[in-house]
Amino acid sequence: MQLIKTKAIVIRSLPYGESDLVVTFFSPGFGIIRGMAKGARKSRRRFQGSLEPFTTVMLGAFLKESGALARVDTADIVNARLGIRDDLKKYGAGSVMLELVSIFEVSGASGEVFNLIETALNLLERSPASLSLLAAFFPRYLRLSGFAIPLSSCGRCGADLALTGAAYAGSFSIYCPGCATRLEAPEAAIGRGTVAFLRRAEAVGTEAIGRLKLCSRDEKDALDFLGRFASAAAGKRLKTLDIASEF
Ligand SMILES: [Zn+2]
Repeated sequence: MQLIKTKAIVIRSLPYGESDLVVTFFSPGFGIIRGMAKGARKSRRRFQGSLEPFTTVMLGAFLKESGALARVDTADIVNARLGIRDDLKKYGAGSVMLELVSIFEVSGASGEVFNLIETALNLLERSPASLSLLAAFFPRYLRLSGFAIPLSSCGRCGADLALTGAAYAGSFSIYCPGCATRLEAPEAAIGRGTVAFLRRAEAVGTEAIGRLKLCSRDEKDALDFLGRFASAAAGKRLKTLDIASEF
């Protein structure tokens, strides 16, 4: 057993038995950490609400052999981000971000991924454009976790998708609109401006994702497109997407 002390973001928190919580964290030095917080549901005093999603904590935990849950010893709040939890729209967008982190798991050290999650949550708390921010987070996180969306050229004719717009045609297929209608009915489509937005979201500095904006119709199209791609890559429909698009 190894005792660690690290900054970590709470990604997910699930009740276990009558008094415990199983908590998923993301930390810069260890990637995903799953741990058992004994008695966390019974005694509010010990963890003081620090094991709620979106919270950055200073985590003290005992890591066990690979595969076994860590033992969560202490979790002191660094940033509770109540502004996300108190706003349904932000909560919906943030929940999709955290679901992506929990499904497309990055294990092992990654300061870059930690920085992206933390920056995106900080921006989400202050920004009114939560769906644009989510749409910018999406391709960037997928690339870092090894599921980059092929948005540069049509998967069939090689056309530059920034000049044609893009259509999602199931599985990992992304085509120009012409090829998509010839081959199979496209499931979702985005315009040229949205293709450019998604490419820029991957290329700019992390802080700059907060300055990228789409109009609300393009936000909806982008999230439908991205959600279908991610669900195919995950092999299951993302649960949080419907909540996010309701607001
Ligand atoms: Zn094409």
